[in-house]
Amino acid sequence: MELAFSDEDLAFREEVRTFVADNLPADIAESVRRGRAIDKLDIQRWQRILFDRGWAAPAWPVEYGGPGWDATKRYIFDEVMSEFDTPETIPFGTLMVGPLIYTFGNQAQKDRFLPKILTGEEWWCQGYSEPGSGSDLASLQTKAVRDGEHYVVNGTKTWNSSAHVADWVFCLVRTSNEGKQQEGISFLLIDMTTPGIDPKPIISIDGAHHLNMTYYTDVRVPVENRIGEENKGWTYAKFLLGHERNSIAEVGLSKQRVRRLRKIAGEEQFGGGSLADDATYAGRIANVEISLTALEYLNLRFLAEEAAGRPIGPEVSMLKIKGTEIRQKLTELTIEALGYYAMPFEPEQLTDRWNEPPIGPDHAAAQMPQYLFSRAATIYGGSNEIQRNIIAKMVLGL
Ligand SMILES: Cc1cc2nc3c(=O)[nH]c(=O)nc-3n(C[C@H](O)[C@H](O)[C@H](O)COP(=O)(O)OP(=O)(O)OC[C@H]3O[C@@H](n4cnc5c(N)ncnc54)[C@H](O)[C@@H]3O)c2cc1C
Repeated sequence: MELAFSDEDLAFREEVRTFVADNLPADIAESVRRGRAIDKLDIQRWQRILFDRGWAAPAWPVEYGGPGWDATKRYIFDEVMSEFDTPETIPFGTLMVGPLIYTFGNQAQKDRFLPKILTGEEWWCQGYSEPGSGSDLASLQTKAVRDGEHYVVNGTKTWNSSAHVADWVFCLVRTSNEGKQQEGISFLLIDMTTPGIDPKPIISIDGAHHLNMTYYTDVRVPVENRIGEENKGWTYAKFLLGHERNSIAEVGLSKQRVRRLRKIAGEEQFGGGSLADDATYAGRIANVEISLTALEYLNLRFLAEEAAGRPIGPEVSMLKIKGTEIRQKLTELTIEALGYYAMPFEPEQLTDRWNEPPIGPDHAAAQMPQYLFSRAATIYGGSNEIQRNIIAKMVLGL
């Protein structure tokens, strides 16, 4: 890849490096390095810094406030972000609903929503899954009934990441029971402060509150908040799932984790030296790194296709499968590197509430919660089994 960079690309890389080195707040970088939960205000602070530089949404076109970068520049930007301890991007705004709004929304919706997604001022969450509708999403039952210039929404959504801190939710609702299931779904943007919305925490295996079950009781949503046509929501949802899977490879994040793993292995003692010196263990890290490099090139191939004006098809599912498997493998290797110090499970250590001395080395506390939560990566965004079905049917034609 390096060989293909033009002088302009290399200069751009230095520009991004210098910017991040000068502007990433030290306290945020320290929290990321230690694996602490990064709260909404800190993520908004970093987003605002990127926004002021014009870099809040690398993939957005200039006319909507993006930098209008080509695939190479986007790649370089992500690459540099992973070199530093920058916080993970929350995907729902800039990566998901933003592109949906500028692709399918009307002018009023673009004017109303896009600027605040860019600044990070308004946070979004995704209301797709329901207790009986996950993989089989088209069977969703949350109902929206037209009442004059409003829809009245009733139902239950589940696994809603960040719903308890989100300002808006993009939601799939049933507006018709006629015809095929997919043909009766509409796409609504709903203000989370609307009376009748009640998110209840789901505490995940890492002991943290990321997820929610959200109840909707007689929630009145203005018709003007519907994206596109009534009963065409499935088309928009599929577009958005494509975006979700494209970003879900998270090559940058895995590179950050490889760096951290190498550092931990370098500090852990083993057989008279460090664990990083052990040929077997070093070989296992190298193995994952090779898979990560292969994934990166696959990702670049998709970006190049997109840049050439050829829409990415169902083969994007490969990114999701490999990306999440690699992430899980990295957490497994990290847990192994820590040995006994991986065992004490004290998520409180990652919060300001913890007053005791750290258990084990500084880098240990975050690893078990991350290992545990990463089990979910092969489930969300469409489970890996479903991705394999898509590849079998739509790519291989089996
Ligand atoms: C951490 C986390 C965060 C999430 N965040 C959100 C969010 O913000 N918003 C949102 O709307 N949803 C969210 N989800 C929900 C997620 O999209 C669903 O969990 C996922 O689509 C799977 O659906 P399900 O849980 O109902 O499992 P099911 O669909 O019931 O599947 C159960 C198992 O059966 C397998 N399976 C199902 N059908 C098939 C088939 N046809 N062939 C082979 N195997 C099959 C699945 O792979 C899985 O292993 C989140 C989930 C998690 C775990």
